[in-house]
Amino acid sequence: QHPFAMASEKDAALASDSPTIFDKIINKEIPANVVYEDDKVLAFRDIAPQAPTHIVLIPKVKDGLTGLSKAEERHCEILGHLLYTAKVVAKQEGLEEGFRVVINDGPSGCQSVYHIHVHLLGGRQMSWPPG
Ligand code: 5GP
Repeated sequence: QHPFAMASEKDAALASDSPTIFDKIINKEIPANVVYEDDKVLAFRDIAPQAPTHIVLIPKVKDGLTGLSKAEERHCEILGHLLYTAKVVAKQEGLEEGFRVVINDGPSGCQSVYHIHVHLLGGRQMSWPPG
């Protein structure tokens, strides 16, 4: 086996537009605790919350956006919509004292699901720098 075979297979997987667990949530094949929905964005509670409030916001149509590093100019509208919706949901969740939004990207960024998503975290004091 070529020594770089694993790395290139991984790269291919990361670059691909193959369905993820989030498609199953969008298609209602698996349940999710949805807190906000419109025609473009879905927001639901994270299954493994890292804060009292931990919500994941995703575009309903991935359009190649496996992660932020794959963003093209055509994605500017949905990226803005995701970020604005994080603010709307933060207000809805009563996070008046503040909150954090996070986008993990790629292996070093600790991304585990390759369908772009914004984490909204709140309800406790955050620390800096993040881990
Ligand atoms: P990432 O690690 O890619 O930045 O974030 C993916 C997030 O999705 C993780 O925080 C993980 O807990 C969450 N997650 C993974 N699978 C599911 C699921 O089936 N349902 C819900 N609600 N969250 C999930």
